Amino acid sequence: MTNVTELSKVKAYGNVIDGKIMHTGESMESVNPATGEVWATIPLSQKNEVELVTQAARGAFEDWADLPARTRGDYLRKIGDMLSQHATELLELETKNNGWVLDEHAYLAEVLKQLWYDAAGGAALVGGQGRTVQMGTDDFGFTLRKPYGVVVGILPWNAPLFTFTIKAAYALAAGNTIILKPSEHAAVACLRYGELISDILPKGVLNVISGYGKDIGDDLVAHKEVDKVSLTGSIATAELITKATAHSPKSLLFELGGKSPNIVFEDADIEQAAQGVMNGIFTRNAGQICSSASRILIQRSVFDEVIERVKEMMTKKDAVRMGDTLDINNSMGPIANIVQYKKVCSYIDETANDEYEVVFGGRYGGDVLLPNEPKFANGFWVEPTLVKAKDQTQKLCREEIFGPVGVAIPFDTEEEAIELANDSTFGLAAGVWTQDLARAHRLIDKLNAGNVWVNTYFRVAADLPFTGVKESGYGTDSILDYTYEKACVMTIK
Ligand code: NAD
Repeated sequence: MTNVTELSKVKAYGNVIDGKIMHTGESMESVNPATGEVWATIPLSQKNEVELVTQAARGAFEDWADLPARTRGDYLRKIGDMLSQHATELLELETKNNGWVLDEHAYLAEVLKQLWYDAAGGAALVGGQGRTVQMGTDDFGFTLRKPYGVVVGILPWNAPLFTFTIKAAYALAAGNTIILKPSEHAAVACLRYGELISDILPKGVLNVISGYGKDIGDDLVAHKEVDKVSLTGSIATAELITKATAHSPKSLLFELGGKSPNIVFEDADIEQAAQGVMNGIFTRNAGQICSSASRILIQRSVFDEVIERVKEMMTKKDAVRMGDTLDINNSMGPIANIVQYKKVCSYIDETANDEYEVVFGGRYGGDVLLPNEPKFANGFWVEPTLVKAKDQTQKLCREEIFGPVGVAIPFDTEEEAIELANDSTFGLAAGVWTQDLARAHRLIDKLNAGNVWVNTYFRVAADLPFTGVKESGYGTDSILDYTYEKACVMTIK
């Protein structure tokens, strides 16, 4: 296994297949979004590598599934332990990959460990999730939770190590083997993570293959040896996967995008709510989180007060510190790649239209935002931007921007707030700011979202499910979702 000791050099990373690091074909360059510089290369795999990786995962399946669940748990615990030694290296790679400031990533080391330990504990309990069924005295009915077989986990660029872990830890705990396909925009940390993990697991149990979705996506997801596909990504990719698997249907799990509302009522603690509005969208990875609160619905009676408070907080000196993403003192990173950068900039250009009023922000470009630091001139930097919209019909209120751009929209009544919040093709998350307990419960009941947070936001943890409704997807990366329930009957008369 290789060691990454000099992160400053352009290093070539390989796929992790059947316990070996391999790649013989074409590669592509990985770009640091803070500087626009090439810093690593990753494999652009093709069909032959899809064959190798699916054979490896299939070959390892039976032995892995046949292990006592507790033994699988012991393996997963060792992976958690490994992170104590390697988390810093992995998080630095990810920061160079997708621009999340290291400060944001520091907490991730603990989260990743927790997920492996949670899955390790759950592995031993998976058998207990079967049921016994009363069928009279002549028959004995029961169900077993069984692994699907080979799982393909497809990862987005915004949170590679996190999404790698929630898919791998729970799929493996349930007795599946897994193939991870990271995004072509951020594969390095995942390739290295795969190397480290495959040193711990039996060969073929966990594999990582990098490449474009257009080159290997269809072959991978539609492969006859693949039993389940779990995607975290966009609705467009979910549609392609659904089409590719239509002729040999298999279990699908989709964690997709959002346009989540953060709803502030006049009875809220305004200081706390303004903080919640700010933290919900102006995150340390520049708003590139699926559940970011990009639609800010504020009751008209407190609309100006909340907006003014958010503006004060965001525009005070040093509120947002951009710069070297590996410097723990900086608080907001760039957009993760050039494709997404152009997309976010095009939405910012829209704010010049009469239908919007810019409260703050609206600029982009390393040369504009970091004029004294020439090494960031070609980086993908965007200023946190808040705009007001008169109503919710406009483009910025409806489409997922996936950047540090919030749109504030006024409402008058609770009914209107619920109607506006639910008037979206997405249903991932929602925030509610109120001190009225009855109202909080009414909103929890009526909001069409997989996650509702009251007087808080972004409460995602190993002990909570995370799922969406509508075009935000379905299913949860959990041990149960990586098993099917086998119904069994024994006649005993
Ligand atoms: P994307 O859909 O463009 O890419 C995701 C992955 O799919 C990549 O690895 C890509 O290579 C792969 N892919 C592309 N075409 C494919 C095909 N035909 N077959 C198989 N795989 C294919 O998404 P992205 O731009 O990387 O990520 C951003 C999106 O992810 C946003 O919509 C965001 O909201 C969503 N997201 C959701 C969650 C969640 O938990 N709900 C978390 C993070 C990100």
